[in-house]
Amino acid sequence: MNNIRLGMTEITVPQNAFGALPIQRVSTEEAVSLLRNAYDGGMRFFDTARAYSDSEEKMGKAFCGMRDKVFISSKTMATTKEKFEEDLNTTLTNLKTDYLDLYQLHCAAKCYTEEDEIYNCLVEAKRQGRVRHIGITAHKIGVAEDIVNSGLYETLQFPFSYLASDRDIALVNSCKEHDMGFIAMKGLSGGLLTNSRACMAFMSQYDALPIWGIQRQSELDEWLSFFENEVTMTDEIRDFIDKDRNELLGEFCRGCGYCMPCTVDITINQCARMSQMIRRAPSQNWLTDHWQQEMLKIDSCVDCGICKTRCPYELDIPNLLKKNLADYKEILAGKPV
Ligand code: SF4
Ligand code: SF4
Repeated sequence: MNNIRLGMTEITVPQNAFGALPIQRVSTEEAVSLLRNAYDGGMRFFDTARAYSDSEEKMGKAFCGMRDKVFISSKTMATTKEKFEEDLNTTLTNLKTDYLDLYQLHCAAKCYTEEDEIYNCLVEAKRQGRVRHIGITAHKIGVAEDIVNSGLYETLQFPFSYLASDRDIALVNSCKEHDMGFIAMKGLSGGLLTNSRACMAFMSQYDALPIWGIQRQSELDEWLSFFENEVTMTDEIRDFIDKDRNELLGEFCRGCGYCMPCTVDITINQCARMSQMIRRAPSQNWLTDHWQQEMLKIDSCVDCGICKTRCPYELDIPNLLKKNLADYKEILAGKPV
C-alpha cells in the first residue's frame, strides 16, 4: 500500500482512508465498529464534517482514548466568525478532542482569501493550536484551481475518480507542484462506479488520498483487502476503465444532492441518473412502485431553474431529468436494459 504525504502538512498515511459521511445512516454501535475495524485493518485518516449530522459524535466514541493514533479531519460550512466558533467548538466536543489534524472550509463557493473573515478564522484557529492544518473543499474546477494558485491552503479536497477529465488530473498535479495535499472525494463517483479494484488502481497512480465513503462492513472489507493484496494499474484494469468511461462520460449526475430541495419535490439526485443506475445495479430495485412514482414527478417540473444554480457540475438538470424519464418510460414499456 502506497503512503501518501499530504503536502506541506507532512501528514503521511496509507493511500486508503475513511470518508465518514455514510456512517450517519447506521447505528452508533455499527459506526463505532466500522471505524475501529478500519483502524485495525490499517486505515489512519478519517474525514468527517459538521454537516454530516452525528458522524462526528460516532467518530468521537470510536477513537476515544486513542486520539494520537489517528488523523482526524472535519469541515465547516460557516461563513461568519460566530458560526465558525460555534461549529469548531461543537466539532471538538463531538470528537472528544482539543485539536483537529485538519480543518476544512466545506464546499467553498469561491477561494476565500485574507480579505474574507472566514479565512482569517481558520488561520487564527491554527495559531491557537485547535487546528493543526487548514484546508478547503470545492466541487467546481475553476474554484479549485483558484484555491491551488492562491497558496493559502495546505490541502484541497475535490471529487476525483477514474472518470476524471484531463483538467481534473492537471489539478492533482498542480497540488503536488504547490506542495499541497490532495484529498479525493467521490472516488466511486457517487455510487456509479462499482469496481473497487479499478478505483484503487486508478488512485494509486496519483498523489491523492482517497476517502472512501463507507457504510457497511462488506464495503470496508473490500477496501481493507487492498492492504494485503496491493493493487496497481494493469492492462486489464486500464481496458476496463476505458470501456466504463466510454459508457459514462458526458452529462451525468454524480448524485451529490447539492441541487436539492427541488421546488416540486423531485428526488433529483436519483432521478437525474436513473438511466445509469438502472443499468448498473439490479434493475428491479429501480422499477418499484416507489421509484415509478418518483420518476413521474419529473412531469411536474416547473422549470424554475433553481436546481441549476446549485449544481457544481453545471448540469442542465431539467433536460437531464426529462431524458431520464423518457428512457425510463421506454424501459417500463419493455425496452431491454
Ligand atoms: S427546475 Fe424543475 S427540477 Fe429544478 S428545482 Fe425547479 S422544479 Fe425542480
Ligand atoms: S444534478 Fe448536479 S447537484 Fe444535483 S445531484 Fe446531480 S450532480 Fe449533484
